[in-house]
Amino acid sequence: MLSKINIANEAFGNWKKKTIAERMVLVKNLQLELEKNRNYYATLITKEMNKPITQSLAEVDKCGLLCDFYINNAAVFLETKHIKTEAVESFVTYEPLGVLLGIMPWNFPFWQVFRFAIPSIIAGNVVLVKHASNVPESAQSIENLFIKSGFPEGIYQNIAIKSDKVSEIIAHPFVKAVSLTGSEAAGSSVAAQAGKYLKKSLLELGGSNAFIVCNDANIDQTIRIAVNARMQNAGQSCIAAKRFLIHQDIFEAFTEKYKKALSELIQGDPMHPETQIGPMARIDLAEDLEKQVNQSVSMGAKIILGGQREGAFYSPTIITKVTPEMPVFKEETFGPVAVLLSFKTLDEAIALSNLSEFGLGVSIFTQNVESIKTRIPEFNEGAVFINEMVKSDPRLPFGGVKKSGYGRELAEEGIKEFVNTKTVVIQ
Ligand code: NDP
Repeated sequence: MLSKINIANEAFGNWKKKTIAERMVLVKNLQLELEKNRNYYATLITKEMNKPITQSLAEVDKCGLLCDFYINNAAVFLETKHIKTEAVESFVTYEPLGVLLGIMPWNFPFWQVFRFAIPSIIAGNVVLVKHASNVPESAQSIENLFIKSGFPEGIYQNIAIKSDKVSEIIAHPFVKAVSLTGSEAAGSSVAAQAGKYLKKSLLELGGSNAFIVCNDANIDQTIRIAVNARMQNAGQSCIAAKRFLIHQDIFEAFTEKYKKALSELIQGDPMHPETQIGPMARIDLAEDLEKQVNQSVSMGAKIILGGQREGAFYSPTIITKVTPEMPVFKEETFGPVAVLLSFKTLDEAIALSNLSEFGLGVSIFTQNVESIKTRIPEFNEGAVFINEMVKSDPRLPFGGVKKSGYGRELAEEGIKEFVNTKTVVIQ
């Protein structure tokens, strides 16, 4: 491990001296290589963590879009900023920090890595990536992709280590910062280590997003979005809608239509192009979900669709009669389980939405956009989406508040997380 850290540090010495345009040539190579072999990479993702193949292809394509976005915009984001003061000259530069550690999850094995690594590397940093242990081939194939695209040795290195070895890397003086996407437990442990050594950390943790449907919403359109918002990637997404808050006037109609839509989803072999839901990524994850559901049922919740597990397959599930004390409301449910609650007033819906330890995002569906816009500050979230599901976009910052973590990925904010914002004053 020490040798990889040394290689990274040596590589940084040269990489930071390159211009952004020089770095960009290699990122462009990488984008083309990725696009050329999209089927190969998508198949790897599906093979390792069971994502339906059409969604794996979409994930690979989105990585290409991210490269494109930073190729077109990074130079402007990192431009020296001149600021008028009493001095003869004063300006701000954005310089790389050095060796960064990325600890990445299995649910989007390419996308999560790309959104950490690409902007970091363009800014002049070099990265070590400790990927989740259940996606080793995806992890190695990303390093191979960097090498194939002409990146010098040490700019991107995959480190296949167990999580108990992470603290040694964080402690190493060459390592300047750490970015983690994963569970609250992993985030808390990594942030504590980073804090001990006074190193910057960025955490992108879980979420329990509310999906609020007002009584004036277009139900059919909202149902279509609600299916995707909860069931995409078999529900294994931090920004998935997890708690559906439906106005009491339309609760029954929404429930019936949602039930019908979920029961029509095609569950099966993730390699099959028609499959919409595959098995979950690991049996233990499906078992954890089953426990959350069973415990909630023992507290009075009612399963009106699904609720069955067969190995790693968990059937699309709808639960009603849910209260905020139940695990399916209080905890993150990382699988295809939707909980439905009704509300009378928007005040009540906002209070329920905020009644969560997480704060990643919320979706609200209504035709009265102007009115809901005035309520945006009341949502304790990193993102508010109106008439759309919460989703990441390279052009927009992404991250949470509360136990969903801190810091922002993507957009200008993301590329500026791992830079030294240097103030220069000349008198
Ligand atoms: P983890 O948080 O355990 O895994 C995510 C990454 O963190 C992996 O690379 C893992 O490595 C690493 N990791 C875990 N513990 C530590 C630690 N103490 N120090 C350093 N690195 C660590 O997630 P799980 O796979 O166990 O999933 C459990 C739950 O976490 C899910 O059900 C979901 O609620 C949440 N989660 C959220 C994600 C998100 O997108 N925000 C993504 C994945 C999970 P290794 O695999 O080797 O243990």
